[in-house]
Amino acid sequence: MEYVQTKFRTHTCGQLRSGDIHQKVRVAGWVHSYRDHGGLVFIDLRDRGGVTQIVFDPDSCGQQVHDLARDLRTEWVVSIEGEVEDRGTDDKGRSLHNSKLATGDIEIRARGLTVLSESPTPPFLPSDENVGEERRLKYRFIDLRRPAMLETLRVRYNLTKIMRDVLGEMGFWEIETPMLTKSTPEGARDFIVPSRHQPGNFYALPQSPQLFKQLLMVGGCDKYMQIVRCFRDEDPRADRQAEFTQLDIEMSFVDQEDVISVVEQLTAKIWKGILGKEVSLPIQHMTYDDAIKNYGSDRPDLRYDMQLHDITDIAHTTEFGVFKSAPMVKCIVVTGGGIMPRSATDALAEWAKTFGAKGLAVTKVIASKATTEPSGSAAGLTFDTGVAKFINPVAASIIERTGAKEGDLIAFAADKPKIVHKVLGELRLKLAKELKVKPKTDFAFVWVVDFPAFEYDAAEKRYVALHHPFTSPKDDELEKLDSRDVEVVESIKAKAYDLVLNGSEVAGGSIRIHRMDVQSKVFSLLGIDAEAQRAKFGFLLDGLQFGAPPHGGIAFGVDRWVMLLRGTDNIRDVIAFPKTQSGGDLMCGAPSSIDERQLKETHIKINLPVKVDPVGTPGSKV
Ligand code: ASP
Repeated sequence: MEYVQTKFRTHTCGQLRSGDIHQKVRVAGWVHSYRDHGGLVFIDLRDRGGVTQIVFDPDSCGQQVHDLARDLRTEWVVSIEGEVEDRGTDDKGRSLHNSKLATGDIEIRARGLTVLSESPTPPFLPSDENVGEERRLKYRFIDLRRPAMLETLRVRYNLTKIMRDVLGEMGFWEIETPMLTKSTPEGARDFIVPSRHQPGNFYALPQSPQLFKQLLMVGGCDKYMQIVRCFRDEDPRADRQAEFTQLDIEMSFVDQEDVISVVEQLTAKIWKGILGKEVSLPIQHMTYDDAIKNYGSDRPDLRYDMQLHDITDIAHTTEFGVFKSAPMVKCIVVTGGGIMPRSATDALAEWAKTFGAKGLAVTKVIASKATTEPSGSAAGLTFDTGVAKFINPVAASIIERTGAKEGDLIAFAADKPKIVHKVLGELRLKLAKELKVKPKTDFAFVWVVDFPAFEYDAAEKRYVALHHPFTSPKDDELEKLDSRDVEVVESIKAKAYDLVLNGSEVAGGSIRIHRMDVQSKVFSLLGIDAEAQRAKFGFLLDGLQFGAPPHGGIAFGVDRWVMLLRGTDNIRDVIAFPKTQSGGDLMCGAPSSIDERQLKETHIKINLPVKVDPVGTPGSKV
């Protein structure tokens, strides 16, 4: 039973039902709305639990309380004492019960009223729709009063509670790791904090507790979990926040399938606990190579079909220059996409350029008027519009290969594999959304496994770790670490796994390297020389040297889980006090300048770049 009994209230505003009629109660909350009918004043009183109607009738509450009630305004905070009544009927005998409200059968006939807080007219009301997001963030304390926001916070709490309870039962301990720490590379920039005691030295806020959780395993902790804040100074992106929350997990004496099994059990409990739905286990696995090949993405959204078809061999037989000379040609079939107007299909070419493609070719599948019909599944079909005239000689082979039907649209990308996959992978999602393609299921889970361990960055002329540098290559691929051949090194598969839900990575992890010599070799491959290894990761290498158990783990993006569970694609909607895309907190005004004394204490001098004024007046500091 929820704790509510205080001197201000006996019940929440969402609690009373017809079974409570005749009870003397006290409720407290915000004035959601008021209606002054002269004789009677009605208010809807709101708190976290819901809304209850209160009626002030001078015959029951006396003239003084009634007068006070007439002065009430929205968002004032009050406590009201009275008696629960049936809402009864109007003078024509029609029921006044409100079926839209959980408390809609009753109202409280007020006897007393205490005003606890007044409020000037607020910048917006919790019931207002279409309030600009900047305003919502500036007055977040009002925005949070919206039932939908409170519900999100409740779901968020429930989610983390289930995580703690389920993992606790499995023997995981929640262990805190430092916030003021040394940089742990997860591929982003660090937020740094100057040290006053060690002038010129800085802490980094953790990008994740990665190395600490590994060292907890070396320390014999066996099963660790933590719901933890992580900080990554990344460029603004709509679905990212500079500080975000992870459920972080690490386990000893495990291999990939053990971690996956724990996560599946946890996922099923979350789904059951929050959505009341079953997740059918085990969740399917897809290799990274297949995900890229068939869906153009390592986060395939399996709610939709529209797989990528490789038609490079067919394309190379045409006289169409774009197809003939491209290293790879793939296409997707958009069922019923033939209805897309020319303007929309033309716009796709421009859109594709934002992913580095030279364009995007499309054509439509129509019934053929040819007298000599081809046989097979392409019988009676041909291409029309777009690139049709260049590729009609191979229409039959393409239709045969892709299974396209009359009325479908085929979209082709011809380029380097990376670009082909990127463009078609994005196009699947774009068209599924725009054409409102019916998803096969509400939630499509998939494990993406067998990631490559390393990728060669040609511009930087070095290897980068696809997951992170502490991820173990597969056991039988360790020898390849000594190779100097880029193709060989890029073929090394890692014991890394991502849980993908509806095209979002909702958890990602790996089995770690637990041997110091292997870790050191991987660092060297990544271009971190012996000296840098000691300086940056000496403590990890020391740990691995002194008896490290085989271990691995995973991290869940808690914010993203809440987004999926609440059906929002705005990450700010699932965080009580979020930041804008440029990292600002509009409510408290962070980041802000600090005073001279704070700078002096940390021996910091501000040296801002000089902004060159185009008019030619002396530059000003930006
Ligand atoms: N530390 C990793 C991350 O934050 C997750 C993991 O490997 O457990 O992405």
